[in-house]
Amino acid sequence: MADIQELMHQAPPSLAQYRRQRAAADLYQRALPGTIFYGIALAITAWVGGYFPHYGSAMAAVFALYGVLWYLRWVHTPPQDSSNVQASDTWWWRHWTLVNVGCVLWCLFFLAVGHLEQGLSTAFLVAAVSTIAFSSAGCETYSLHKRQALWVVVLLQVPALLYFAVAVPALWPVCAVLAVNFIYQLTHIRRRAAEYDTQMAIEHALLTSRTEVERLSRLDALTGLANRREYDSTFRTHWRLAARQQGNLALMVVDLDHFKRINDTYGHLAGDACLQQVARLTGELFKRSSDMVARIGGEEFAVLLPDTNAEEAMQLAQTLRRTLAETPLQWDEHRIPVTASIGVDCMRWDLDLTPQASFSRIDSACYTAKARGRNRVVQA
Ligand code: GH3
Ligand code: MG
Ligand code: MG
Repeated sequence: MADIQELMHQAPPSLAQYRRQRAAADLYQRALPGTIFYGIALAITAWVGGYFPHYGSAMAAVFALYGVLWYLRWVHTPPQDSSNVQASDTWWWRHWTLVNVGCVLWCLFFLAVGHLEQGLSTAFLVAAVSTIAFSSAGCETYSLHKRQALWVVVLLQVPALLYFAVAVPALWPVCAVLAVNFIYQLTHIRRRAAEYDTQMAIEHALLTSRTEVERLSRLDALTGLANRREYDSTFRTHWRLAARQQGNLALMVVDLDHFKRINDTYGHLAGDACLQQVARLTGELFKRSSDMVARIGGEEFAVLLPDTNAEEAMQLAQTLRRTLAETPLQWDEHRIPVTASIGVDCMRWDLDLTPQASFSRIDSACYTAKARGRNRVVQA
């Protein structure tokens, strides 16, 4: 689960950024096994064609090239930071180059087999069937980018088919079938690419709404602070941890003074702006990543301070009280004074048996501060 500080400031990635990252991860993963299948098809074709004794070194060179290609595709991992558009683009084009080189290499091999066989031999049929398999797989696998997927199916077969059409009449029937298959693949790519785009849009919408739901369930919509629910669970966690270690954990309960009057005099919008200002000022004062400022009620706030003793908490509470009192809300031509009564203390392990007991004790101190005339701090 995202950290609350992160959640307060985080924005989900844009659709373009999400797509860039997903497509890069997909391309990387999908391109990896390709070279292995080329290797298997090469081995079978060369074996049935009896090429190893006659063209041993040429075959070894092709295998070595595919080995190098596999290694390059493996080490060329996508950039971590997808917000860096230039780095992502560079990676993207380099990786497509690695994919295209594999296609060209296969096409040259296919062309060489047709040239050597001059007819429908077993070796040629194995190579032709492999070509159909590779280009069909390419349509599916690389549909994450329509133009690049087109290049893949073109580079895999078109140069060889053109050569056969011109130079090897015995292969014309197979050429015709492969050409029809090629045209079908072009339409298939278009459909699969549209499906991939839709899938990205749906995934992005889901991601965005999940982030939003998490924000809504943990943050207060008006002030952007942690809400009551988040405060309750964080307080309980910190309380148990500190209780086990008999450590310092301080809490402030802050209640704005005569807030109803502000609403009644200047309207609810002024009241809302006032709450937002108090939230901002309090957030600015308690910046440690372990501190938590939450809105726990209408005009009530809580500040949770781990590793803070009662004395330090008292001083901080006075600073907060003073800051609020010295910063009236500027509302149209009015300067609306805002003060708060604060109850504060450190957890007392001899008195507090539960988190609720600690809270009640400090909340009562806040009421005492009210009773003593407001705009003051009382230690529980
Ligand atoms: P005291 O000094 O005793 O705390 O007086 P108070 O007026 O602050 O306390 P009271 O509990 O009587 O009133 C709290 C007011 O806070 C009443 C309610 O309308 C207002 N309030 C609660 N939530 C919001 C909010 O989100 N926006 C606005 N504008 N007002 C709110
Ligand atoms: Mg109140
Ligand atoms: Mg109040």
